[in-house]
Amino acid sequence: MTSTVVSFSTATTTIPAAVSESVGKALVNWQESGMSILEAPFSGDRVRGLMAQTEARLRSVMAVPPSYDILFCQGGASAHFALTAMNLLGEGKIGAYVDSGLWAQRAIAEAEKLGRIAVVASGAKDDYCRLPPIDRGLLPAEAAYCHITTNESAQGLQYHDLPSFGEVPLVADMTGDFLVRPLEVERFGLIYASAQKSLGGSGLTLVIVRPDILPRPLCSIPQVFDYRRLASCQSRVNTPPVFAIFLAGEMLRWMEAEGGLSVLAARRACHAARLYHAIDHAPLFQCPVVPQQRSTTTLCFRLKDSGLTARFLEEAASCGSQRGSD
Ligand SMILES: *Cc1c(COP(=O)(O)O)cnc(C)c1O
Repeated sequence: MTSTVVSFSTATTTIPAAVSESVGKALVNWQESGMSILEAPFSGDRVRGLMAQTEARLRSVMAVPPSYDILFCQGGASAHFALTAMNLLGEGKIGAYVDSGLWAQRAIAEAEKLGRIAVVASGAKDDYCRLPPIDRGLLPAEAAYCHITTNESAQGLQYHDLPSFGEVPLVADMTGDFLVRPLEVERFGLIYASAQKSLGGSGLTLVIVRPDILPRPLCSIPQVFDYRRLASCQSRVNTPPVFAIFLAGEMLRWMEAEGGLSVLAARRACHAARLYHAIDHAPLFQCPVVPQQRSTTTLCFRLKDSGLTARFLEEAASCGSQRGSD
């Protein structure tokens, strides 16, 4: 008997069978080299080729203009909460932030340790059930950038219309909805995203940056954290996460074969609409998020009677549901 696992997890990608198959092969004998991908030296031609090809594929799938650098980093989005501030805040400048929920707050908390920041909008008064409207007049004159979280995974909120701040570059934590829809990359100064939510496994963080927004930094940045340095050596300051890059490349290949981001986005929107319809019409559940800003990647629902939540989780677990701890 076959069983089907349906993943509602926000933490990891669902890996298509075709990708699992090529990963299996590469673990044993990568590119007919007689070597596992885990054994390949990072300075060798094969790994160089892999990184160049993965970058080219990402450029093509996501339509990243040639003027943007693509960096293969580590540390997860959580490291880049700090690193974006470290790399983008020049002398006398302020980082502007939109507090849209849990992940934005974590970005704010880390950036605060590194420089001056200003929270220019907050969803607190709406209990984070909608994205806070942004008054461009509230952006400080010294703003080096304005940071948003394109998908607040814990709250189930997603920007379907991107804000814009004129001359002030838009910086986005896109971990929650990276590569799930076509986007105009030109609208961003910098995008960062951990790979594990939609592009394979953990250990790889993508940074896509327009290099002219990088100022002379306030302090001397350690080279593995320095976006300019990473760009100048094709992300090979030290050992890159080779396996995670390989997996990302295979996911990109699969996305291309499926017809690209517009096809995948339409499929995702259709699944999300069915699920929201079911939640909205179920007597037990409700979705707290306003309909226009509901996420197509992380769908949140609650029990109308919160007193039943513990029992719901218990019964779901007894039916085989695997629950994360956060
Ligand atoms: C999961 C998530 C993160 C955290 O990513 P790590 O790789 O664990 O640091 C950051 N931002 C958003 C929007 C997320 O969904």
